Amino acid sequence: MTKRIAILGSTGSIGRTALSVLERHRKRFAVSALTAHSNAALLAEQVAAWHPGFVGCVAGGDGANPEWRLGAGSLVEAATRDDVDIVLNAVVGVAGMDATLAALGAGKRVALANKESLVVAGELAAAACATSGGEIVPVDSEHSAILQCLGNRRVDAVRRLIITASGGPFREWDAARIHGATRDQALRHPTWSMGSKITVDSATLANKALEVIEAHFLFGLPYEKIEVVVHPQSIVHSMVEFVDGSVLAQVGVPSMELPILYALTHPERVPDEATPRFDPVAGSPLTFEHVRMDAFPALRLGIEAGRAGGAAPAVFNAANEAAVAMFLEGDIPFGGIAAAIEQALSVVQDNARPTRDSLMDADRRARAVVRGML
Ligand code: NDP
Ligand code: MG
Repeated sequence: MTKRIAILGSTGSIGRTALSVLERHRKRFAVSALTAHSNAALLAEQVAAWHPGFVGCVAGGDGANPEWRLGAGSLVEAATRDDVDIVLNAVVGVAGMDATLAALGAGKRVALANKESLVVAGELAAAACATSGGEIVPVDSEHSAILQCLGNRRVDAVRRLIITASGGPFREWDAARIHGATRDQALRHPTWSMGSKITVDSATLANKALEVIEAHFLFGLPYEKIEVVVHPQSIVHSMVEFVDGSVLAQVGVPSMELPILYALTHPERVPDEATPRFDPVAGSPLTFEHVRMDAFPALRLGIEAGRAGGAAPAVFNAANEAAVAMFLEGDIPFGGIAAAIEQALSVVQDNARPTRDSLMDADRRARAVVRGML
């Protein structure tokens, strides 16, 4: 049966890759809804190619069609439509959170690239799944790898998850040089081509902290059982060690095409001759290193925020989003990103049981702290 997909963030790196994957599988999938933020010209091209029943454009502006739905509410509307079976959330940042929660509440499958949703509102997402039958299937390559390694085994068969990290462009730099890294240097990722926010997150390793928290909520494992190892070639996408000592890894060239397709078809696999093929000899050698925690404080801060729970992951995420935007604008140095996160986490504390509104309040306060440091 044809699966009907809504793509939120269709004009971004993941959104565009998803449409190129769907192009090869037009018999299996239809596109019911597309949303973008500001790139109305590309959105118009995608609409002409896919004829979705619903089009949302958050910022509107030049080139937006008067028939499109404008404003942030268009995401939730797209995510909850009756003619949508799977919501691919490829929005960047906490802006994608309400749509994730609404889609889960409406009983949809969410193919989740927007990891910030789960980091900020992991408990609310779990509650929405439990009451409505919605489910999250990760698009993030590490979590897709873990899901594939787990198969249908129960999590009590897991001794630990080993999440791989490329190490980013500053893997071998000393801490002082990393502090002064430029925008161009931070945007030059060694193995992956992605949107600018996640590319900076991969240079600070904040992305790996987001992924540890994402894994905690997705697989229901405590933080003691989630480890990070540096693997510069980005071929082993992650590993699962089981209680009997066996370790399974999922392996392939660094491409988001397979994790996107798998999130749509899980637990089935469908033939796809066009996904890049892995050649073990060409991929050799595969190496692994410890993470240099002292050189990448954003990773430590993020994992600590995850362990603290409550609103702390939301504060970590918001401070990081605000600081990355300021770094990309040239307002703070690269090293200022982790400093801003640390400051926000020390100032904004909220131990109450999180609700959607309390999390958004923590998000706003964290951003204000970071902007106030200018
Ligand atoms: P991009 O910056 O390339 O794309 C972001 C998309 O979100 C664009 O369509 C953009 O619209 C839209 N968008 C931006 N701001 C808003 C907003 N406030 N409201 C609604 N829509 C908005 O990011 P990526 O595709 O790289 O990443 C998307 C998500 O996927 C992130 O959470 C990232 O961490 C995750 N991810 C990405 C990977 C990758 O390989 N790129 C790998 C794993 C996870 P417009 O362009 O029209 O302004
Ligand atoms: Mg990832």
